[in-house]
Amino acid sequence: MPLASPHAPPRTGETAAITRAGAQSKHKAAANHKAKRSPAPVTGGAREESALRDAIRGLEEGMVVLDPDLRLVLCNQSARRQLGWAGAPPRRGLALARLLARAGALEAAERAMIETRCRALLATAAGAPQPEKLTLGDLSLRLHRLAGFGVAIFLPTGASEGEAALRDPLTGLGNRRAFQAALTAALARPDGEVALILLDLDRFKHVNDSFGHPVGDALLRLVAERLRTSLRAADTLVRLGGDEFAILLPRADGAEALAERLVDLVSRPYLVEGHLANIGASIGIARAPMDAREAGLLLRRADLALYAAKAAGRQQFALFQPEMDARAQARQALETDLRRAVALGQFQLHYQPLVAVPAGNIIGFEALLRWQNPARGMVSPAEFIPLAEEIGLIVPIGEWVLRQACRTAASWSEAVLVAVNVSAVQFTDGARLLRAVDEALASSGLPGARLELEITESVLLRDAAETLAILHALHARGVRIAMDDFGTGYSSLSQLRSFPFDKIKIDRSFIHEVEAQTDGQAVVRAVAALGTSLGITVTVEGVETEAQAAFVAASGGHEMQGYLISRPVPADAVPALLARPHTTPKRQTTG
Ligand code: C2E
Ligand code: MG
Ligand code: MG
Repeated sequence: MPLASPHAPPRTGETAAITRAGAQSKHKAAANHKAKRSPAPVTGGAREESALRDAIRGLEEGMVVLDPDLRLVLCNQSARRQLGWAGAPPRRGLALARLLARAGALEAAERAMIETRCRALLATAAGAPQPEKLTLGDLSLRLHRLAGFGVAIFLPTGASEGEAALRDPLTGLGNRRAFQAALTAALARPDGEVALILLDLDRFKHVNDSFGHPVGDALLRLVAERLRTSLRAADTLVRLGGDEFAILLPRADGAEALAERLVDLVSRPYLVEGHLANIGASIGIARAPMDAREAGLLLRRADLALYAAKAAGRQQFALFQPEMDARAQARQALETDLRRAVALGQFQLHYQPLVAVPAGNIIGFEALLRWQNPARGMVSPAEFIPLAEEIGLIVPIGEWVLRQACRTAASWSEAVLVAVNVSAVQFTDGARLLRAVDEALASSGLPGARLELEITESVLLRDAAETLAILHALHARGVRIAMDDFGTGYSSLSQLRSFPFDKIKIDRSFIHEVEAQTDGQAVVRAVAALGTSLGITVTVEGVETEAQAAFVAASGGHEMQGYLISRPVPADAVPALLARPHTTPKRQTTG
């Protein structure tokens, strides 16, 4: 078949000659065809012919030739592979936009970029302008204006380079681009069945931070190896980046069983360059066609499932469920509203008194954040603080809380404490936190000794040395540090020795158990005794009944806080609370 002869039926955009040529020498093959070609083609063939010769001259690896209307003339196999084209070769005459739309290796912005550049190139004056280079992630393209014709797109030189563009250099697995191509191809199969497994390592950052990046890299290679050995030949495994891997299974069933095995396998200990590393894996699964038929949506839904697995405590897998979409939308709406709230200043602080036991005098107030949203009403911090932490908004919000709480406390008639909750996220930028505290104290004139910061145990899980330095710097300003919600998270008594805390606040779940005669009693007593001997104030949170208050007094607690004394109140109600007579718990036995 003569090369691109106008007499040849325009079946597909690929000419067999070019594919075969790829195996030997492309130039020689082209030359042979030229030599064999007998009578000169008629009707515009000469122009097309010369354009193709032009294209072949520049042919290195992948190649797409487009006519002056940016419709497909040819697209060789290598180009199709690199672009992630799924299914049979594209039809000749297919519009560029439609060709690119089915190129699974390209993202929307990349497709738009290629098309814009091709149009711009077509608009350039005749002649042979310089080829234009276009780098899209790890794919590099050369766009060539074909004199008197359309545009040729060349994809990188040499088979090895083309392969490299699809490979993750660290693990040798496929990369994100290879994954997109494989996913598009899998979805284009007649049954369109595929299971997409997204796997994210738990605590990988911790290994990286504590042992260094070379160890982190070696660990990723070990993980890749473990994953590789547990898959079948028909499965596709790639590293999407960082500590995220993806697996494609050609069938939708079986994904759960595999995910379960992988969670177990990945979380077994590793010996990496002499270090013992313990990590885990969280997995999200979405399946085609039941969860989605389109690559982008399938990926998003697997990602939602992964998010759910992490939210449920990590080290497990989750299948995509339709409710996850609704939840993601609700979360998105909350995020939008929360960002507006910061801009519009929709926050307020309420203050809840802390009283001494047994005297009953108010020794301070805890500032508690309230969000008054026009549509949602009063939103509880428990609902929005986790999200604010996740998206980093907690930093500006926390700074506002510090400023506002210090300013309000400075106006009180008595020099009592103001306690402010500080998120673990605020400790990731210690310098900024210290600056915020300094500014809040300076602008309000409140002495540092009247400010108490409540931190949770999660703060201590971060980089210990750095956190301790921040806590000591706060102490140096006279600021007191309280351990909040003690007994809930990862608390251990040994943490109390890592830093000279001024106060322990026993989580309210313990006092609620007191009346049910459970271990709560023992915990409150033990912590009160420990605090007394270490010189740390022990506060019991959530005291709602006289019996609970009496128990706090009897077990040696130093302070209490709870609805019995007062609910959190707006700032303007604080003076009345300060003026109110002391509420001493009635002397009564707890038995
Ligand atoms: P927290 O620091 O442990 O605050 C005590 C929570 O217990 C408050 O809930 C308070 O209203 C509630 N409470 C107090 N006494 C009682 C009681 O007798 N019974 C019951 N059932 N609950 C009681 P709130 O205000 O909803 O705050 C929830 C959590 O949100 C706080 O727990 C704190 O962790 C966080 N939070 C509040 N304000 C801020 C803030 O400004 N920054 C940060 N980072 N977190 C905040
Ligand atoms: Mg608190
Ligand atoms: Mg608390």
